[in-house]
Amino acid sequence: MPHELQGRHAVITGASRGFGREIARHFARAGAHLYLLARDSGSLEETCALARAESADPAQTVAMQTADLSDLASLPAVFAALPAVDILVNNAGMQGPIGPFETQDPAAWRAVFAVNFLAAAECCRLVLPGMKERGRGKIVNISGGGATGPRVDFSAYAASKAALVRFSETLAEEVREAGIDVNCVAPGAMNTRMLSEVIAAGPERARQEYARALDQEQAGGTPPETGAELVLFLASQASDGITGRLLSALWDEWRELPTRREALARTDVYTLRRIVPLDRGLAW
Ligand code: NAP
Repeated sequence: MPHELQGRHAVITGASRGFGREIARHFARAGAHLYLLARDSGSLEETCALARAESADPAQTVAMQTADLSDLASLPAVFAALPAVDILVNNAGMQGPIGPFETQDPAAWRAVFAVNFLAAAECCRLVLPGMKERGRGKIVNISGGGATGPRVDFSAYAASKAALVRFSETLAEEVREAGIDVNCVAPGAMNTRMLSEVIAAGPERARQEYARALDQEQAGGTPPETGAELVLFLASQASDGITGRLLSALWDEWRELPTRREALARTDVYTLRRIVPLDRGLAW
């Protein structure tokens, strides 16, 4: 639907490049007012220029603010300068140290949690009071490889993304009655800077993933547009009532979900759960 975010104020973190930039372009075309956060001002300006050029309406706001999201104490001031936020996309992320867990610098390992998990949670904390006041809101948290299974040599990234998914499921239940939907998106393996980091780590550190990363670099990876369409759906009214889910842009039939809203709400489909023997047909 064209202009499905018309009049909505959306914050997108990590909008300076990669997937965040693609989300910003999708939201601009859908009519949203945009507030884009990241550290690199030059790259953010490039995203702003693209978003302005693609905006559905010349009156749309496209604003940027440089911010280091790992500086959690600075975030209240960043959000205080924004109008009431209708949509928050926690996209900023870092891959962090690559290699066996015990060989990694502890400070660098912990820094991944600050960006991927703690900053995302803090941004939620800052937008929730306004969303509750207005009785509506959309929060989309970008998950990543390792949230649903082991990702060897990427322990900080995997664990921080799993934490983000569990947090999102929990928050979704807390704010369900307030009309706020909280979901996670797995956008697929994209050829962004994160892929270049895996290749730069080399076969000694990125062991199992190195060859696959080289293949992906050649093959092209999942286009960022694929995930951005799902983020747009979860930010729009079309997804109202769909909450507490982790959806894969590549594998899930998310376009059909509006027709399955009630059925979905009665199940734990698209959530993180423990697998027991019966689930695998084992009579233990
Ligand atoms: P990317 O190109 O490395 O982009 C990461 C973004 O996060 C950049 O805009 C970066 O901006 C921002 N960021 C990182 N640290 C930050 C900080 N301390 N403060 C503020 N902004 C920060 O990677 P990407 O692939 O687009 O990743 C976007 C999201 O998708 C991440 O959450 C990632 O985990 C997720 N994801 C990616 C893949 C993939 O295959 N690439 C797969 C699944 C999920 P600045 O450097 O300008 O601050």
